[in-house]
Amino acid sequence: MITFQNVSKTYPNGVVGVRDVSLTINRGEFIVLIGLSGAGKSTLLRTINRLTETTEGVVLVDGESVTGASSRDVRRIRGTIGMIFQSFNLVGVSTVQRNVIVGRLAHMPAWKGSLGLFSKADYALVDDALSRVGLSDKLFSRADQLSGGQQQRVAIARALVQQPSVLLADEPVASLDPVSTDRVLADVRAISQQLGITVITSLHSVALARKWATRVIGMRDGGVVFDGLPEEATDAR
Ligand code: ADP
Ligand code: ADP
Repeated sequence: MITFQNVSKTYPNGVVGVRDVSLTINRGEFIVLIGLSGAGKSTLLRTINRLTETTEGVVLVDGESVTGASSRDVRRIRGTIGMIFQSFNLVGVSTVQRNVIVGRLAHMPAWKGSLGLFSKADYALVDDALSRVGLSDKLFSRADQLSGGQQQRVAIARALVQQPSVLLADEPVASLDPVSTDRVLADVRAISQQLGITVITSLHSVALARKWATRVIGMRDGGVVFDGLPEEATDAR
């Protein structure tokens, strides 16, 4: 489903982000990337939807190379890959509904999107996504009136309405308290199981990786130093 073949990324300033990574990630896996800051987790994640260009090797998503893809193909592939970040990137003064429905823009002609011509089906996807993260009652709340954990769940809903096959999450709980953290990860785990969505998320804590992952990948200095079951992951990175 996602294959890395000898992937390396050296930044223009000579810093190595990812070093010769080869991995196969299967549909429905819940992968947690762990490793110290600077280990290459974010770089590796971003090669999947080509927010970062690899300098060597190939990344395949559903058998299709994103590495050599045209910008048009990259746009289409990105439509099938949801992504969330440490910062929720919501429009605070807009409603939850408006923040989520923009996830549909990936699947609309630009002119329709710019006119805000969403369909009944688009709104139904918003309702479904919000119910999966337990925020149906916040449809018309302003995003900036929600807690951090709720805002991240809105961001998850926004990614879900893309109907992605893959969800990438770059330190999604780094700014959240422990209770919100568990709620966010529980929601993502449930969504992954219910919808068969492959999740790849970086997390700072090995304990969280052990709690939520189906498979843990440890990184150091751009390389993979651990790949195995959560119960075998240790802090010795
Ligand atoms: P992290 O905790 O994930 O390592 P950083 O603070 O290192 O976060 O990086 C924050 C942002 O700065 C990211 O977008 C990353 O790509 C960029 N960045 C990190 N290191 C460098 C660097 N040496 N030169 C330029 N940009 C960098
Ligand atoms: P992590 O997500 O594990 O913290 P990153 O992928 O952000 O690691 O960073 C891996 C290495 O690449 C670090 O040395 C970082 O400083 C460097 N790096 C990240 N982004 C950039 C960038 N845009 N330009 C230069 N170096 C970068």
